[in-house]
Amino acid sequence: MPANPIRPTVSLDEPGKRHGFLKLPYSRNDSAWGSVMIPLTVIVGAPGPTALLTGANHGDEYEGPIALQALAHEVEAEEVTGRLIIVPYFNFPAFTAASRVSPIDQVNLNRAFPGVPDGSVTQKIANYFNDTLVPLADLVVDFHSGGKTLDFLPFACAHYLDDPVQQAACVAAVEAFNAPWSLMLREIDAVGMYDTAVEAQGKVFVTTELGGGGTASARTARIARRGLRNVLIHGGMLSGAPEVEPSVMLEMPDDACYHTAPASGLIEPLADLGDPIVPDQPLARIWATDCTGAQPVTVFAQRDGVLAARHFPGLVQRGDTLAVLAVPQR
Ligand SMILES: [Zn+2]
Repeated sequence: MPANPIRPTVSLDEPGKRHGFLKLPYSRNDSAWGSVMIPLTVIVGAPGPTALLTGANHGDEYEGPIALQALAHEVEAEEVTGRLIIVPYFNFPAFTAASRVSPIDQVNLNRAFPGVPDGSVTQKIANYFNDTLVPLADLVVDFHSGGKTLDFLPFACAHYLDDPVQQAACVAAVEAFNAPWSLMLREIDAVGMYDTAVEAQGKVFVTTELGGGGTASARTARIARRGLRNVLIHGGMLSGAPEVEPSVMLEMPDDACYHTAPASGLIEPLADLGDPIVPDQPLARIWATDCTGAQPVTVFAQRDGVLAARHFPGLVQRGDTLAVLAVPQR
């Protein structure tokens, strides 16, 4: 296999706190021998476990970058047991462009795993994490939000896994994160995801969906900062008492949770995030955008639950995810 060219500019092992970069050589028109410089902070304290912490896997999601910038700025090595590897802007070119996918190669980092060592820029980032950083980690936290096209109830989540011991460890970490909602998530398209790659390496994995619409709110930024500290306390890497509030555990028992837009048009929402939903309840109307007088298309709930995600901008295209339900665990 060809070698991956990405190198950290600071030691991953020496005690102390270092701010540097993951340097990815990228020769291009405006920089002949240039590199993509992905910001990185490594904090090595007393001997202990390793946490790998990432935000902006998608470049238009902001709660993770906020929480991780704050952590890198505020935490010192003396406060850490083990090692924190902090990458606030995982897909840095996408983050710089405020775009879900990379503007360089149009690749969605979260569908690029396990990556390609001599592939495109995004494929190289995926491969470096898959082969070099994830194997170092005991706990992996990857922050997401809805980006520009989805809006979520703020939740941390774990996946249904084949190994019940690993699944229980992931659920315990999600509960420790203590977002207002905690979810057992069924992915609609798991192939190539970072989540899938990390879980396949047997790691304890926490991911989130903390809001959306291409911005953060005071509430969701606070949830991200608090949850990150809580999960690091749970992992034994930070000391102190976790901040705990009531959290509702949700699950996604089947594919009927996902509602795809059957038509393109103007969305009239008929339910808001967090609303309880009964089967056959109308979730949204889709109105024509090119004429008056046409019958709207109504989308009905395929099952009961609460509205956990909704399409964000006011216009929808056929095939977009329009609404996602989750079911409170009884
Ligand atoms: Zn995302």
